[in-house]
Amino acid sequence: MYYIGVDVGGTNLKIGLIQDNQVVIKKVLQTNALDIIKQVVTGIKEMLADNSISMSDIAGVGVGFPGMMKNGRVIHSPNIQLDDCPIQSILADHLGVKTIVKNDGDLAAFAEHEIGAGVGSNDMIMLTIGTGVGGGIIINNQIYQGCGGAGELGHIMCVPNGKHCNCGRLGCAEKYVSLSALHDMAVEKMTKYSENTIHKADGVRAIDILDAYHQGDACAREIISEYVVMLSDVILNYCNIFRPDTIVIGGGLTYARDIIDMVAKRCEEMHYGYVGARKVKIVPASLGNDAGMLGAVLSLDR
Ligand SMILES: [Zn+2]
Repeated sequence: MYYIGVDVGGTNLKIGLIQDNQVVIKKVLQTNALDIIKQVVTGIKEMLADNSISMSDIAGVGVGFPGMMKNGRVIHSPNIQLDDCPIQSILADHLGVKTIVKNDGDLAAFAEHEIGAGVGSNDMIMLTIGTGVGGGIIINNQIYQGCGGAGELGHIMCVPNGKHCNCGRLGCAEKYVSLSALHDMAVEKMTKYSENTIHKADGVRAIDILDAYHQGDACAREIISEYVVMLSDVILNYCNIFRPDTIVIGGGLTYARDIIDMVAKRCEEMHYGYVGARKVKIVPASLGNDAGMLGAVLSLDR
């Protein structure tokens, strides 16, 4: 029996055929934000037809959606205009199989908890650091949603009266610890240190800054040390509120392992009750870009 996992992103729509928690066929389309429901239904049907698989071979469809969700309904979605829409029941009617739709960050967190870097954890937070900052909260092995839409981890205040965030507030973590923010910080610092070795890289990625850091580049050291303080301060807020046993770092930062280790070390030294309290394990995610699709399918039976 097969399952289908769908990950609706602001840029790409990913559809995966999943068997035994593995993505066996993947189709990636450019997201059509104006007609997303039709695109998901058509995309699934085309992928099945292209591979001579019948809908009757599909046990269920799980969809990760980028917005506030409650009971299969989109409450608010800034990137894909589908506010107050019962997307889960509409998709189920079109597809004729069991279908669930949940928040994409929650599902990626659930996948890491069930089959990824968070296996064995009871209380886990996943922080996804890419263009923006998202995430999901797992409490007692279940996705925690509050009254709907919990886990907007990028929108806690990090700098009072700081940069303007898309959510309408000033100084959100997303504006300081996302990879876009790291990039902007690097560009700013590189004008101060004109002799830096980061210039040699194509573009300014976290991994390029890290390479320069290891070569002893002064500019890279300043960037990384400021970034590590900022990110670990953000993570310490989650540690002190939730005291999870594990925090999983996903998104593009996953590949800058040394930065994660530096953040973990500072969190260990600075968390409340650090003398005797249980340490929070901080680790990179292990499922990469497939986490959303896998989590959507894993969540079908929950
Ligand atoms: Zn914000």
